[in-house]
Amino acid sequence: MPYLLQKQALYIMMLALMGGVILGLVAWSSWTSAHHGIIKTPEAHYDYIIVGGGTAGCVLAARLSANPRHNVLLVEAGEHFSWLSSVPLATPMLQGSAQDWAYRTKPQVHSSWGLNNQSSACPRGRGLGGSGKMNYMLHNIGSEEDFVRWEGSGAIGWGLRQLQPYISKMLGTEHKCIKQKPYCLRSYQNLLMSAAGLYTTHSAHLKSHRSFVRVKASVQPLMHISHVDVGNSVLGKVFIEAGHELAVTFKNLSFSTAHSTVFKGRRWSSLDGYLRPALGRRNLHVLLKTQVTRVVTDNGRVVQGVELRSSGDFTKFVRSRQEVMLSAGTINTPHILLQSGVGPRAHLQKHGVSLSATALSIPGL
Ligand SMILES: Cc1cc2nc3c(=O)[nH]c(=O)nc-3n(C[C@H](O)[C@H](O)[C@H](O)COP(=O)(O)OP(=O)(O)OC[C@H]3O[C@@H](n4cnc5c(N)ncnc54)[C@H](O)[C@@H]3O)c2cc1C
Repeated sequence: MPYLLQKQALYIMMLALMGGVILGLVAWSSWTSAHHGIIKTPEAHYDYIIVGGGTAGCVLAARLSANPRHNVLLVEAGEHFSWLSSVPLATPMLQGSAQDWAYRTKPQVHSSWGLNNQSSACPRGRGLGGSGKMNYMLHNIGSEEDFVRWEGSGAIGWGLRQLQPYISKMLGTEHKCIKQKPYCLRSYQNLLMSAAGLYTTHSAHLKSHRSFVRVKASVQPLMHISHVDVGNSVLGKVFIEAGHELAVTFKNLSFSTAHSTVFKGRRWSSLDGYLRPALGRRNLHVLLKTQVTRVVTDNGRVVQGVELRSSGDFTKFVRSRQEVMLSAGTINTPHILLQSGVGPRAHLQKHGVSLSATALSIPGL
């Protein structure tokens, strides 16, 4: 009997040891893959400097560094997100944490009733992956009208037609329009959704028109998009039917089950799809826990580089040979511009910031 117990204890110890070794290897490999390319001190100059390693910054860094002749620096104010950010249902727990800029609105007059001081929380991700690591993962492609309005407001070259190849790349599919009518473009959004296995009222309609042909099923999609399966839920089915009825009356309305950037049960973001696979490149440096305080210009006309402040509180200047790209989010990008002297004159003067010469040439400032 004691001999049997000894043998069992030995087996348990061996299993625990093997488990420990496997866990250690997994942790080590994910640590090294996550930290490869992450530097402590930047070089004096780079071709491109990207400010903010969020949803947009991760894509920019991966795309620009794909050309080995470009030296790229990505500067991110936060650090790595905790493992909690991978768990879709844990999303709200990140709000108010160190990984959230935790902005609040000013006290509102017409909204936020019932909230303390009539002020709403305005969470923004702070760390590699940005808000894409703490958002609700709902995915949609804008309607044609959105893109038209966007171009009309000055975003020339950002129309749906120009973006088609990039959206296809993101979804891992490629299609060719076989009818040259506007209908082709109008249906594009729905086509992409159906290409990703997503269903909308219009995509069912589209199938009968066959205005697109699938020319290539390309490699792995960069962004994994899944859709919520309502299964046998009666409520879910009733909702979808009601949406389809509405879409018949309102032609611009498209209705579908929710699509989300979840892959194998884990959050999927542009950090996973774009930046992580690029992290081993020698021409890409990622600087964490470092905040860009302002864009430095030559007499306010030509951008020279950026001023950085690290968590150690030292200030440093890094020069850009080509371009500085601001992708610090909807609140922090304008903040950096203000600190760089680009913004409404009266506001800058009130805070003692001198107006940059570049800004002087912008009408209305
Ligand atoms: C709680 C929440 C839920 C959301 N849900 C959805 C959703 O379901 N579907 C959807 O489509 N969208 C959703 N969004 C919005 C979506 O996540 C954002 O629109 C998108 O991530 C913005 O991308 P971005 O690159 O512009 O900015 P961000 O992803 O916010 O990235 C900005 C990055 O810049 C860094 N940064 C800021 N200032 C500096 C500085 N001075 N120096 C260096 N780095 C800096 C930040 O730390 C951050 O990492 C949600 C957002 C939040 C916060």
